[in-house]
Amino acid sequence: MRKHTCDVVVVGAGLSGLTAARLLHKHDLDVAVVEASDRVGGRAYTLENAEMGMISDQGATRCGPAMSTLWQLIKDVGVKVWQQKPTQMVYVTENSVSRFTPTSLPTWNPLVRLDHYNIFSTMDRLANQVPPEEPWEAPSAQEWDSCTMKDFFDRTVWFKSVRRITDAFVSMLACAEPEEVSMLWFLWLMGQTGGGRFATLVNSNPPQYRVSGGMQQLYKILVEQLGDRVTLNCPVTKVENVEDGVLVTGDGATWEAKAVVLAVPPPCYSKISLSPALPEAFHHFTMGHAYKCTLYYKTNFWGNGDTFMRLYSDYPDCLAVNAFDDTVPGNKYPALTALITGRKAIEASQTSKEQRKDSICKCLAKAFSSEEAMQPLDYVEMNWNEEEYIGGGFSAYYPPGVLTRYKTLGRCRYNSTSRVFLAGAESATQGYGFLEGAVWAGKRAAEQVIAVVSQAADDSHPEEKQI
Ligand SMILES: Cc1cc2nc3c(=O)[nH]c(=O)nc-3n(C[C@H](O)[C@H](O)[C@H](O)COP(=O)(O)OP(=O)(O)OC[C@H]3O[C@@H](n4cnc5c(N)ncnc54)[C@H](O)[C@@H]3O)c2cc1C
Repeated sequence: MRKHTCDVVVVGAGLSGLTAARLLHKHDLDVAVVEASDRVGGRAYTLENAEMGMISDQGATRCGPAMSTLWQLIKDVGVKVWQQKPTQMVYVTENSVSRFTPTSLPTWNPLVRLDHYNIFSTMDRLANQVPPEEPWEAPSAQEWDSCTMKDFFDRTVWFKSVRRITDAFVSMLACAEPEEVSMLWFLWLMGQTGGGRFATLVNSNPPQYRVSGGMQQLYKILVEQLGDRVTLNCPVTKVENVEDGVLVTGDGATWEAKAVVLAVPPPCYSKISLSPALPEAFHHFTMGHAYKCTLYYKTNFWGNGDTFMRLYSDYPDCLAVNAFDDTVPGNKYPALTALITGRKAIEASQTSKEQRKDSICKCLAKAFSSEEAMQPLDYVEMNWNEEEYIGGGFSAYYPPGVLTRYKTLGRCRYNSTSRVFLAGAESATQGYGFLEGAVWAGKRAAEQVIAVVSQAADDSHPEEKQI
């Protein structure tokens, strides 16, 4: 067993762990990042398809303008970004294909429009009543946490066509179904992401940015800055509090340190023997279900190149919940990426790769009346629920009852004497489940570790402090 000593161990080399490690290192603390898998990045993964001359982001892809902590990091490390052009929407159902813009719904029926406006503005209004730091303090917290989004839609939405949009909205944001998620949690999540306008079919269409060369570029720079402080292929199995610090055990190695930052997705906590244990609430988190599937084509048959395209599909035979133009500057071929989320991702896992590809191609052929849609040059996919040290995507969700019963969401420390600090996108109360939350939580954990370690150093040299 190799034995190491350092100031702080960071478990998990996703964006949250790397952000924490970067700040701790900048503060002159001796930091070790221990990662279970053979790569850094966690839920961000840029696939490099050398044969096709292509890169594609199979995990986190876009940065929105409101992600202020992420933008600060992007600026600090000097990574380049590019902006996607305005978006055209295409809505495909069993019997119809409608094209529309971000300011017009694919229907002329004024009552349907009213229903659509009503449900999203009601969700936005209720989301504004949920305090970001303590959602259980919302005026109707108990009531909202005792039911699901399905219960809420059942009593609020009038038209089936609008209901299909609201159900898809939950699936796209939470990667889970309306009957699975707590209404209180989902409203709170909406508050985190800028409200209903963020992801509805008719939205304000804020500009979206992508990292040049793929999201992995950001991680590459962070790892370069940390040098040999990052250990791969080393799943951490045990974290114990010992006198004045922690003992972290990984695959064939131990680290004795003053503190540990756990920056792993919630399902992975149960793979680590922790003493003291985390509160019971952590066993009630569930990861969403998500596939990301990219198709490369010879021509951009879906657009004219001036505008990006976003497609929403809404019929039983199509596995994709939505798809977007994934044509990346510098790539040899145009590309489309489809997301299969929630129930459809579970259905997809019971089919073959060929069947999933076929289902998406048929939907594209229908949406764009194109024969080429059936003949992609290549097809790549990633099922995030098969990733042993991630457990699903995009993030973890709360079923009813957990938020108000345990009141544990968003804390960095669970025990004032323990040297275990939590980071990770699911420990954030800003940008929960997104890159923004990952950076925010990593930064917070680093700041808290620095405060505790500095305090301990002062306490062990009181005479120096007096001078
Ligand atoms: C398909 C998909 C698309 C997404 N799109 C976007 C998007 O466009 N924009 C956006 O903002 N967000 C997006 N997200 C969400 C975003 O990717 C995550 O919020 C973010 O990457 C989480 O970062 P993290 O560091 O908290 O966790 P992770 O990235 O999950 O990193 C955790 C790390 O911990 C490691 N680990 C786990 N257990 C152990 C252990 N025992 N020992 C050591 N290491 C361990 C894992 O291997 C992993 O590397 C998307 C996610 C997915 C899956």
